[in-house]
Amino acid sequence: EPGSFKDRQIFEFNPHQLIEGTLIASYAMGVRTAYIYIRGEYQKWQKILQTAIDEAYDRGLLGDKLEKSLKEQLNIDFRLDFYIHSGAGAYICGEETSQMTSIEGDRGYPRIRPPFPAQSGLWKKPTTVNNVETITNIPKIIEMGGEAYSKIGAPGHPGTLLYGVSGHVNKPGVYELPSGTLLTDIIYNVCGGVRGGKKIKAVIPGGSSMPPLRGDEIEGVRMDEESLKPLGTHIGTGGIIVMDEDTDIVKVMLRLIHFYHHESCGQCTPCREGCGWLEKILKRINMGEGSLSDIDLMLSVAQQIEGNTICALGDAAAWPVKGDFSPVMGGFVNKFRDEFEKAVKEKRTFRAPNIVHGRRNTAETLVQTA
Ligand code: SF4
Repeated sequence: EPGSFKDRQIFEFNPHQLIEGTLIASYAMGVRTAYIYIRGEYQKWQKILQTAIDEAYDRGLLGDKLEKSLKEQLNIDFRLDFYIHSGAGAYICGEETSQMTSIEGDRGYPRIRPPFPAQSGLWKKPTTVNNVETITNIPKIIEMGGEAYSKIGAPGHPGTLLYGVSGHVNKPGVYELPSGTLLTDIIYNVCGGVRGGKKIKAVIPGGSSMPPLRGDEIEGVRMDEESLKPLGTHIGTGGIIVMDEDTDIVKVMLRLIHFYHHESCGQCTPCREGCGWLEKILKRINMGEGSLSDIDLMLSVAQQIEGNTICALGDAAAWPVKGDFSPVMGGFVNKFRDEFEKAVKEKRTFRAPNIVHGRRNTAETLVQTA
């Protein structure tokens, strides 16, 4: 999703730690088959990980050789086979149940829970689905010992996090830092501050589905769930998107909602229709054809999506608009209402509508929108 790009760093720079973590977790749970689901566009990272898997098989750390050596040396019955499943690029296949449906060869539709994957998952067998970053932490936790590891970072969620920082910072990238690191430290000390020394208008702290913080709210904010929750947002993927004072929030909102509308699988009416309505309203405002009532209409539509869908994509689309379930009015539309009102009143025309659809402007479209 926009703003989240951390796992590819693990595939690229530390694939064996992921394999080791999977081995340890699988042994602990008695799991004999592991799948790593990587979207189809990530051919480069699939190749890197496949090379590491082949190396692990060659060294006797997976498959027949592992089974034989464990039996002979330790009299343990265990083997693990490790497969990469290449997706076809659907964002929804990052959701655990649609991921399993996709691996089984069907269209990646999320399933209603219960049953939960631990009860009836892949091929109707008990299944554990975990994030690449989580699994990759396991060898380090075992190496350090749980007690020492739990002293790193925030007490509620100890350990390190991969913060993927993008947007208007001087040094965007993926940084491994303790949980609970000050957001301002990440932006100003680690990422070299805001481009051109500008002020910050907004920060999304945990990937595009998390409600934003205004620039005047980030002082003293620590990047862990316990610290962010009272502010009406969440750590999410740790994908921090920094927006400077010149950012057009109405355009940002359109870009985000276009993403969720495009990626909605279409099973649930509130998500399928609601995301479409939100995009239509935002396009209307962006084209100078919106009305002030459209602003409350967006909040109402987002409210109807939230909590009324099979999977969390619906909430993910609603939260940037209206904020999460908490009483904090935390979405872009609440926090930057003045910008939406200004866009409506000034009948502001978004000068580059086609960028949203991935097409380039032509001289003709620029003249039309000038
Ligand atoms: S919430 Fe959206 S993405 Fe999830 S199952 Fe429903 S329609 Fe599909």
